[in-house]
Amino acid sequence: MAPRPILWMVIPCYNEEQVLPITAPLFLNKLNELAQKGRISENSRVLFVNDGSKDKTWQIICDLAKQDQHYIGICQSRNRGHQNAVLAGLMEARDKCDITISIDCDGQDDINAMDQMVEEYWNGCEVVYGVRSKRDTDTWFKRTTAEGFYKLMNALGAEVVFNHADYRLVSSRVLQHFADYEEVNIFLRGMFPLVGFQSTSVYYERSERLAGKSHYPLKKMLALAFNGITSLSVKPINMIAGWGVIFSIVGILIAIWAIIEAILGNTVAGWASIICVICLLGGIQLISLGIIGQYIGKTYLETKHRPRYIISERTWEENQRHWIEEEKR
Ligand code: UDP
Ligand code: MG
Repeated sequence: MAPRPILWMVIPCYNEEQVLPITAPLFLNKLNELAQKGRISENSRVLFVNDGSKDKTWQIICDLAKQDQHYIGICQSRNRGHQNAVLAGLMEARDKCDITISIDCDGQDDINAMDQMVEEYWNGCEVVYGVRSKRDTDTWFKRTTAEGFYKLMNALGAEVVFNHADYRLVSSRVLQHFADYEEVNIFLRGMFPLVGFQSTSVYYERSERLAGKSHYPLKKMLALAFNGITSLSVKPINMIAGWGVIFSIVGILIAIWAIIEAILGNTVAGWASIICVICLLGGIQLISLGIIGQYIGKTYLETKHRPRYIISERTWEENQRHWIEEEKR
């Protein structure tokens, strides 16, 4: 029998003091259950990534790490957002485990889908996407905007798995290659399909948050969607070029018409239409400049090669001695 893989669950946490004490034992139970069934190694871990929380989240993580050596945590030096927190955890895990499963800490994603994810890994898949089969618990608004987003993303040429968020199993082999994607604007769910390797999907029902409240209001969701599109696709630029051609042709026709009108001596009557055209073109130019500006802005950020995450603390550095002493006893 093949050696049992070491699994690291990667769990981003931002101001989650309310929900973490409830969900942390659930993650640990699942880990133990999988280990008892012989599907993963006993040396698997639950890795919490504290994303610069302002409440007691880090304190809770440190306490958990003292309770059970399967709990470990890293702390980002400040809040960097969900995507960077997951990335920090995955990059921390990649040399120390065989597989990772990233999952939110609020209990919305069904932990029991992990069994099937691990089975798919045993079947040879290196990336397993967790896909929401239903969105009954989301509000109508969130569901419609989110599903519209996936359709728009695919229409614009960015390959994303429909209704897949950031609940996924990724093998360390894939992560080693993923590390070569050095971009700063990251949109993980659109990037893993680019890395390739054998992949599949596992379906689960998404439930409600067990406690606390969402950190993704409409503004942040729109920002994520826009970031996803501009990070993964250059179609908007092509569309602008297309519109530019069409409006240039229309502009030339209008100009010819205006000249003929002028020759016929009817110029004063044309004032309103000229104003309309100026306004229309002015608006389109501004939108175009805005979108192009987004890409230039990103190019600027990418050329800086800033670090994408900075880890300031690790529970095991603090706890190492504690556990070594425990083992000696
Ligand atoms: N999160 C994070 N950094 C942030 C915002 C959120 O690490 O700046 C984490 C959060 O703790 C949770 C996950 O990302 O584990 C998803 O966030 P949330 O549940 O608020 O989003 P929703 O599920 O409502 O889209
Ligand atoms: Mg959530």
